[in-house]
Amino acid sequence: MKMDRRQFLSSSSMLVSAGALGAAAGTLADTAGARGAEIAPHKYRLVATEEAFATTEQANSFRQLAATQWHDPDVVMWRGFLSNEPLLNKLLDLEHERLSIMDQTGVDMHVLSLTAPGVQMLDADAGTAMAESANDMLAEVIKRHPTRFAGLASFAPQDPSRAAKEIERAMGKLKLNGLIVNSHTNGEYLDDPKFYPIFEAAVAHDAAIYIHPRNLPEHADDILHGALNLDGAIWGFQVETGVHAMRLIVAGVFDRYPSLKIVLGHMGEALPYWLYRIDYMYNVYTSRRPELRKIKGKPSEYVKSNFLITTSGVNFHPTLKYCHEVLGPENIMFAIDYPYQESAEAAHFMQTAPLPAADMEKMTHANAERIFHIAPPAAS
Ligand code: MN
Repeated sequence: MKMDRRQFLSSSSMLVSAGALGAAAGTLADTAGARGAEIAPHKYRLVATEEAFATTEQANSFRQLAATQWHDPDVVMWRGFLSNEPLLNKLLDLEHERLSIMDQTGVDMHVLSLTAPGVQMLDADAGTAMAESANDMLAEVIKRHPTRFAGLASFAPQDPSRAAKEIERAMGKLKLNGLIVNSHTNGEYLDDPKFYPIFEAAVAHDAAIYIHPRNLPEHADDILHGALNLDGAIWGFQVETGVHAMRLIVAGVFDRYPSLKIVLGHMGEALPYWLYRIDYMYNVYTSRRPELRKIKGKPSEYVKSNFLITTSGVNFHPTLKYCHEVLGPENIMFAIDYPYQESAEAAHFMQTAPLPAADMEKMTHANAERIFHIAPPAAS
C-alpha cells in the first residue's frame, strides 16, 4: 500500500511542487503588471535580498537525481522545475530577462543566491566543488554588473572544515556579500557542534548567513505531503526553517557567537508571530527542568539581536507593520523571492508600505547594504 501511495504521489506531486515555491512558478507571469500588480513609483531604492538563480551544473545534477526513483521531496520539487521550462530559464538567466524585469519593476539590485537546496544533496566532494564553481560564477557576474547584483556564497556543510575554507575564499578573494544555506543537510542542523567551524568562519569574515528553506527530510515530510499539499512553501518550508532557527537559539549558538547574524526570509518564518509564546513556554519548561536551559537570555532577545528577517513571499502590509513594531526597522530587509514570486507585486507592496520614510530607507536598502557589505550608489 505504501509503495502504491508514494508512486501515486510522485506522479501528482510534480504539479504540486512546481507551485510549491510560489504560485508564480505555475504561470510564470513575472513581468511588469503581472497578476494586475501596478508598477509602483520608484520612491525608495530597492535592494532585493532573496533572489534565486541556478547554474547549468546544478540543473544537470538534479536532472540525474530526477531520473532516479528517489522520492526525496526536494528531488520531487526539482522534477517540477525541470519540466517547467520558463521557470528553469528564469533561474539559469542572470543578465537578460532578469535585468529587464528588474528595470520594468523598479528593482535596483538582486542579492543572488543559488536556489534550494543548493549543493546540500550532493556528497561532500561534489557539493564542495559545486559551491566553489557557483561562487566563482557569481563573482564574475557581479563584476560585470556591480550596481545591479550582489551575491551570497554557497558552501557545503557536508564537510564543515572545507566549508569554512570556502567561506574565507568567498568573502575574501571573491568579495561576495554573505552566505546562503538551505536549512538542514541530510536531516542535520547547524546547532550540531560539528558545524561550528562554519560559524567561526562566518563571524571572522562578518558574513551573515541566510537560512533559506528547503523541504523537510523525507521521513518528516510524510505528514505534510499528499492530497493536502502542505509540503513546500504553503507550510512545510516555514515550519522547517523556523525549527532550524529555534534550534540555534536554544542550543546556545548565539551565546557562543554573539556577533553571528542569521537572516530568515518570509517575514521570519513565523518566529516574530510566536515570540511571546516561545518566551513564556521556554520559561515554564526550563523552570521544571533546569538542565534544559542553555542560554543566558530569553529566546526573543536573540531573535532581536542576532536575526534579520526579509519580506520574501509575504507582500502583506499587516505582517510588515507587525514585524516593524516587534523587531524594529533595523532588522527587516526587502526581498522578492524571484523567480518564484512576482517582482511587480513585491515592489509595489514595499514602495507603498505605510511606515515612516526614515524606516523605509532602512528596510528597502540601507539594512541590506549594511548587513551584506554593499556599497551605496555614488551620489549623483
Ligand atoms: Mn526563496
